[in-house]
Amino acid sequence: KAGEKSDDCLFCKIVAGEVPAEVVGQSDSAVAFKDIDPKAPVHVLVVPRRHHADVGALAGASPEVLADVVGLADQVASDLADGQYRLICNVGPKAGQTVFHAHAHVLAGTQLAGF
Ligand code: 5GP
Ligand code: ZN
Repeated sequence: KAGEKSDDCLFCKIVAGEVPAEVVGQSDSAVAFKDIDPKAPVHVLVVPRRHHADVGALAGASPEVLADVVGLADQVASDLADGQYRLICNVGPKAGQTVFHAHAHVLAGTQLAGF
């Protein structure tokens, strides 16, 4: 159910400390940790502590938490890089979403290719 911990959700387990991850930032409602397969010198995932399937569901249920996710992303990009970053949210398999707990990718630390 939205907002509740899901026992078979990888990112719920990371938030709960049941699966290890390299945490690089935290707020009341969000956690930031390094992506296991980095696509840039800095590649961090920022996730709400509570479970939502994707950022669209999060935006509908808790827009203030979505704002907190973006704020934590900005802070991590300043802490680990120079404050310049790309924020990517994949919603749905067609967009490449593979973990169905809302998350934002923070890519930083290099000149990123245009798209
Ligand atoms: P998506 O494709 O759903 O937008 O992004 C999921 C991301 O989670 C991928 O970039 C993938 O590398 C990352 N990921 C998958 N499994 C793990 C894990 O066990 N630990 C961490 N830190 N990242 C993971
Ligand atoms: Zn979850």
